[in-house]
Amino acid sequence: MKFESPIVRRKSKKIWVGDVAVGGDAPIAVQSMTNTDTLDVDATVAQINELQTAGADIVRVSIPSLEAAESFKLIKLKTSIPLVADIHFDYKIALKVAEYGVDCLRINPGNIGKEERIKAVIDCAKKYNIPIRIGVNAGSLEKDIQRKYGEPTPDALVESAMRHVEILRRYDFDNFKVSLKASDVFMTVAAYRIIADQIEQPIHLGITEAGGLRAGAVKSSVGLGMLLMDGIGDTIRVSLAANPVEEIKVGFDILKSLRIRAKGINFIACPSCSRQNFDVVQTMNDLEERLENVTTALDVAIIGCVVNGPGEAREVDLGLTGGSPNNLLYLDGKPHHKVNNDNLVDELEKSIREQVRLKEIEQEKLIVKS
Ligand code: SF4
Repeated sequence: MKFESPIVRRKSKKIWVGDVAVGGDAPIAVQSMTNTDTLDVDATVAQINELQTAGADIVRVSIPSLEAAESFKLIKLKTSIPLVADIHFDYKIALKVAEYGVDCLRINPGNIGKEERIKAVIDCAKKYNIPIRIGVNAGSLEKDIQRKYGEPTPDALVESAMRHVEILRRYDFDNFKVSLKASDVFMTVAAYRIIADQIEQPIHLGITEAGGLRAGAVKSSVGLGMLLMDGIGDTIRVSLAANPVEEIKVGFDILKSLRIRAKGINFIACPSCSRQNFDVVQTMNDLEERLENVTTALDVAIIGCVVNGPGEAREVDLGLTGGSPNNLLYLDGKPHHKVNNDNLVDELEKSIREQVRLKEIEQEKLIVKS
């Protein structure tokens, strides 16, 4: 018996980034950002497509210059996923990419400059009906806020964001979302908790510059996990100094862990010990690699022996319990057939793909009925 999720999501206004809803009752969107040179249109398009294949809902692209805005025009034409333009310093870039069909404008209040410039971006966002993300970052707060607080603090991050929220409100613009990122988990979590009560718009979560693949994934999981448990967060980006496809995988793993959003195989596996009846670690590595392309949600348990195997297998769609001389495969919680260690991974892959196929048929039937 699984616990019901205790998470009650904060109520937020729904906005649209292209055809992806963010906030309200929409699923928490997972996003990443390209790290190619935006001037290299082919490389950027290829990476956007890889991210889309990995399951990304939204992709952000850095537009550092007006020349890059021209590349963006081509990139937008050659891709189909909603794209957010990341803009710093020069508001005119925002006006350009809006004309070229961008789905959201991310501006950094700390460096976009005077109110007239923000007003120009707002007018443009209204004209093209696109949302704005106010993206505050602890590393680039406005100078006067830095002076006031001495160093980045949760209140400083919130003050920076709210200053710009007020400008948007003054110009009657409510089609926005907000992020408040710091590389420190406590600061980030505290800042998001404060702003969650001050706005009704969606919140974009992230721990910025979290680090490399392993440490960054852990830091992001801890920080985002605390906020998601509070019901805060409508879209997430895991920032890793790694291939951005990993950001999408980790993002979904975080949501899967909290049973917020299911995608692909949710593996439950024991760490293995001398009781194991097959090589659990190698089997897991092989299965993860082979089944990476599965997007249908399925719970699979791979357990090395009977100590915990039957108990776990009973709770999942497909479970394997190590045994001697044979392992036992469970389907839908019931013992189904014996599998020996020869060709174990091939057998498991075949059975898992069959379960996925049956689940997809079930889901299609449900869609037809509704
Ligand atoms: S389930 Fe069995 S093999 Fe796996 S760690 Fe526990 S005792 Fe060891």
